[in-house]
Formats: sequence, structure tokens, C-alpha cells
Amino acid sequence: MTHKSALQHPVFKTISESADNLGVDAYVIGGYVRDYFLERGNAKDIDVVAIGSGIELAQNVANNLPNNPKVQVFKTYGTAMLKHDDIEIEFVGARKESYIEYSRNPIVENGSLEDDQNRRDFTINALALGLNASNFGELLDPFNGLKDLESGLIKTPLNPDITYSDDPLRMMRAIRFATQLNFKIEDTSLEAISKNSERIKIITKERIVTELHKILESKKPSIGFIHLEKTGLLDIILPELTALKGIDEKEGQRHKDNFYHTLEVVDNICKTTDNLWLRWAALLHDIGKAPTKRFHKKIGWTFHGHEFVGSKMVYKLFKRLKMPLNDKMKFVQKMVFMSSRPIVLASDVTDSAVRRLVFDAGDYVEDLMTLCEADITTKNPKKFKKYHNNFKIVRDKIVEVEERDHVRNFQPPVTGEEIMETFNLKPSREIGIIKEAIKEAILEGEIPNEHDAAFEFMLEKAKALGLQVS
Ligand code: ATP
Repeated sequence: MTHKSALQHPVFKTISESADNLGVDAYVIGGYVRDYFLERGNAKDIDVVAIGSGIELAQNVANNLPNNPKVQVFKTYGTAMLKHDDIEIEFVGARKESYIEYSRNPIVENGSLEDDQNRRDFTINALALGLNASNFGELLDPFNGLKDLESGLIKTPLNPDITYSDDPLRMMRAIRFATQLNFKIEDTSLEAISKNSERIKIITKERIVTELHKILESKKPSIGFIHLEKTGLLDIILPELTALKGIDEKEGQRHKDNFYHTLEVVDNICKTTDNLWLRWAALLHDIGKAPTKRFHKKIGWTFHGHEFVGSKMVYKLFKRLKMPLNDKMKFVQKMVFMSSRPIVLASDVTDSAVRRLVFDAGDYVEDLMTLCEADITTKNPKKFKKYHNNFKIVRDKIVEVEERDHVRNFQPPVTGEEIMETFNLKPSREIGIIKEAIKEAILEGEIPNEHDAAFEFMLEKAKALGLQVS
């Protein structure tokens, strides 16, 4: 049976003709073939393996394509890449790889298709389709990858212990694919990952983070984080999360397992947002609970100040993982820091509390509400409904207060300059005091957020401070 329908794009015909002209065998291999069988939409990344020079084939293909695209050659890797329409095609010569212990960079030799399939990470990633006229669309599947695709199994072509030890990044990839595709990881693979987990330390932080992003971008990230935890990888890459594991009991008082709670929150938030950084915030929203956990005889378990401590930990965690320390990090910090604010509100929704929330959260107030809604993991249906209803009231109130008071991205209605002019003051402490008092009066609802009312209020306040109009 051939699979010509996978190769309908005209570019495959061009590659086929070029390969025949050069007298080399060529195959599409890896993700493109896997995603074709999974019907995961049209992949835009195509990997072509040539039994011979991949670079030469790429150059020939480029010459035969109507727009003669530029070929980017990576000599050290023996690969070449070209872009055609919106497709990126990578060409590589078939290789045989052998590894040395301290590095994930193998010693590479030219090899056969089979050698090349052997070096692939999973059976489902080793599927190849023939591109020459003689075998166009023919499937070459030496490890029964198609069967594993159908039964949803992540399995290595060769001995898993060696596969993961050779290139420990594959451990992250196995878990990432299992999460993205909702596949099972073969037991011997999971055992091998547990055994080799320490070897993740030779992988760069950037590559680990790429995989974490892909896990978090999946429909149900908990699949991945549970695997990461069970295999010991999480303890190495995100110990802040494993520290949340477990339930303590003292004098009959228990707290919830904050690790599994966190995973539920992450899965919940993925149903309502694609925002990767908000998903990160959900993952990290409780990390401050481990260092702040205390037991008090009268009130039981507490995590006082965990939001503040957690937001500080976000910075350290991002730094350690070489993640960006920019506005994305600040956003995650802000979400973690404010993550309990709406909860306090949910029991008693006052206008002034909502104004303060909007003032402090600014443009992120809706994201914060989304996080808090995802944080409702109670199994009591009555409470579940009640909490959601209360947050709905908060959301409505946010809109109402917003329309009336405009406190989002608050600009003081009376400026420092105006205060200085009115009282003939030089820059001084009093100006700060007056500005703060005006802001407070607006947030408390004592005066509307308007210039004239604020000016009146300023005159009164200044009088109390003993200032005279100049
Ligand atoms: P995605 O695009 O979702 O990441 P992909 O399978 O296309 O999936 P790539 O990283 O582009 O992922 O890899 C292309 C192919 O190269 C894979 O399908 C696999 O055959 C092979 N491969 C990639 N990384 C490794 C690795 N670390 N070890 C062995 N083979 C790998």
C-alpha cells in the first residue's frame, strides 16, 4: 500500500525528480509522516533524508523549484534548509550515530536508511515515505511505528536505557509527545527514564524549557507533569513544584496536596486560555506555599504571605532556567502575587475593593480572574457553583466600576505640577502625601475620579497640612 496522498504538495514531485536525477534515494521522515497518519493537519516542517549528500540534494531541489529559493547550509551538521511557500524543508544525509558518555553530541558517520531510522527517538518518529519514482509514497516502517501510532504508544526503536542515556533530551521529548498526543509511554521506557533522570543535567536549560512550553501548550499538561514527577525529572528541573507534594496531618488537621491541586488548576486554565504565560502562572501560583507552611494549634495549617514569597521565587526560577526576565516574567510574578486577591472579594463584593483590584492589576485584571476561576477545585458541587457565581459578580462589578471610575491604568486627575503651582511649592514630601490622599479617596469612593472633585479635595487636604494657596 502506498501513501501518495501524504505527498500531494507539488514540492514532493520536485524532490522526487531531483533525487532520481542525482541517483540518490530520498525519504520524508519523522514528524511530517507521523502527523500525516495522525491527521494532525498539514505539517509545515518537512524532514528529508538522502542516502548520500543532503546538501547536494537540497541545492538541486532549489534549482528546480520555480522561485529558486536560497539554500541555507549547515556544514558542521551536514544539513541544508530551504523555504518554499510557507513550508520549511530540511535535508540531511542518512547517518549512523554513536555516543560518548558526557555529551549528547554523537560521532556521526554516513549510513543507510535503516541506520538513520535507528537513531530516531521513537518508533512513531522513525516512519519514512519513499520519494523516488520507484517507491513514491511507500511506507518504510521497520519498528512497527504505525501500530504504535494506532495504539497510542511512545516506544524507542532500540534499547530504551541506551536511547535515553545517549541523548537525555529524549526523556523530555517522550513525556512531551505523550502529553501532546495523549499517548502512553511504554513501561520499559518509563523505567529507563527514571534510571537516567540525573542525566538531564547535561541538557541545556533552553532545550528543557522548550519542552516544558510544549507540555504547557498541550490540552492537558498534568499528563506531562505527573510523568516528570514520577520519573524524578521534576525534582531536578522544577524542585519548587515537587516541594508542594504531600499532605501533612497534625492533631487531626490536614491540608490539601498542593502539587496535585496545582496540576488541576493548570488543566482547568488550559480550557479557557491559550496564553502560555498565564498557564505558567497557574503552574507557579502556589510555589510559595512550601516555604511558608506553618502549623498553629488553633487555626491549623497556614501559608501566610505565600503569594509574596512565591512571586520572588518566580524570578529565581526563571533565572535558573534561563527564561526571559522581561515583561513576561513580571506578568507571571504579578499573577502569583495577586492570586488570592479576588478570593477575598468573592465573599463580599464591595465597590471599593473592586476598584482597588482593578487599580492594582491594571490590564491584567481579566487574566487574574481567569486564574482565580481555574483555582476553584473543590469537589463539592454546591461550593463550586457558589464560588463561580461570586466571581461572575466580581467580573460584572469590574465592568461597572470601570465604566464609572476609569481606575484602570490610573492617571492622577490632579498632577504634581498643579499641586506645586497652586501652593507655590518646590518638589517636596507634601506633594506625595496629597497625591496619595487623592488616590485613596478615589479608590475608597469618597470622591469621583474627576479633576474638579479632586482639586476641591486637594484644597481641603492642603489646609489640614497647613498649606496656603499662593
Ligand atoms: P515537533 O515538530 O512537534 O517538535 P518533530 O518530530 O517534527 O515534532 P523535530 O524536533 O523537528 O520534531 O524532529 C524531527 C525528527 O527528528 C523527529 O521526528 C525524530 O525522528 C528526529 N529527532 C528529533 N530529535 C531527536 C532526538 N533528540 N533523538 C532522536 N531523534 C530525534
